[in-house]
Amino acid sequence: MARKVVVLGEVRDGSLRNVSFEAIAAAKTVAEGGEVVGVLVGQSVSSLGQELIHYGADRVITVEDEKLAQYTPDGYSQALMAVIGQESPEGIIFGHTALGKDLSPKLAGKLKTGLVSDATDLELAGGNLVFTRPIYSGKAFEKKIVTDGVIFATIRPNNIEPLAKDEARTGDVASLSVEIKDLRTIIKDVVRKASEGVDLSEAKVIIAGGRGVKSEDGFNPLKELADVLGGAVGASRGACDADYCDYSLQIGQTGKVVTPDLYIACGISGAIQHLAGMSNSKVIVAINKDPEANIFNVADYGIVGDLFEVVPLLTEEFKKLKV
Ligand code: FAD
Repeated sequence: MARKVVVLGEVRDGSLRNVSFEAIAAAKTVAEGGEVVGVLVGQSVSSLGQELIHYGADRVITVEDEKLAQYTPDGYSQALMAVIGQESPEGIIFGHTALGKDLSPKLAGKLKTGLVSDATDLELAGGNLVFTRPIYSGKAFEKKIVTDGVIFATIRPNNIEPLAKDEARTGDVASLSVEIKDLRTIIKDVVRKASEGVDLSEAKVIIAGGRGVKSEDGFNPLKELADVLGGAVGASRGACDADYCDYSLQIGQTGKVVTPDLYIACGISGAIQHLAGMSNSKVIVAINKDPEANIFNVADYGIVGDLFEVVPLLTEEFKKLKV
């Protein structure tokens, strides 16, 4: 059944986040040959419309207003409800990002529809559209089909392959004028934590440190390895609680959920709350002095040793491969 599917493109610092392209790929599956409509909300975002089309959207609608320059649930929901009112889509796909997690339940409530949140895969099987999503902190997966109403889903970053970029694709980018009113939250300023390098939630390679790094400086060898591999640095809560790094790096049940291609856990014991945030990584390498550490139970490759010896050796070897 061909469907019209609306996809929210997420903009950060003037660029589209990669999850926007992954959401378009998911929307193509949901559309089953129907139309995929990209939506951009913000201020001065229309120039990004063609990029959504290059990644597979058929056309794009922009809602621009200075009141939308920063994300607020009130502002964005008004913009999206206007788009949904105009388009009457049969499907809606967002990224399962901080923004998507905040906005999607609010919109699902307004639309009186269900929500499949945090999908890691979707496929057509037996005439049904089947979503896969992790449950019990990633220890099991459930399959979901939507039997009634709008198919509304959020997709976990880094799980659904985006379509190849095709710069020859063309499509219409049209603006929709929406009067944004009664904002209950006014964002005056956004102060970013000084974070260097790659965005953790979208990183393809993550080098994570635990209490075993022993100090703030103990993260330096991990940063060097991350630089060589073009990856990001993450952490266990143990490392954050010990003040070795900022909580924005925390991975796990109460931190970020990540699914990179390569996750290197250094001096992390592998508590269940940590595994909840990283066990779906494609390849897991664990470096730990304790051969009994639980992290080895989820690792594809394990190195029993001192991270301060092993990590610099890996960095040197990867540097040689890059030459
Ligand atoms: P430890 O358990 O102390 O492990 C340190 C490891 O480093 C050890 O295995 C040790 O052998 C190894 N090591 C030491 N020195 C070296 C060396 N030189 N070289 C190599 N290895 C070395 N944790 C999270 O990570 N994320 C969460 O989101 C999270 N949420 C939680 C939510 C709740 C409600 C609760 C109760 C806990 C949560 N935790 C979370 C905490 C979790 O239970 C663990 O306490 C925490 O993950 C432990 O961090 P760690 O592995 O760095 O430290």
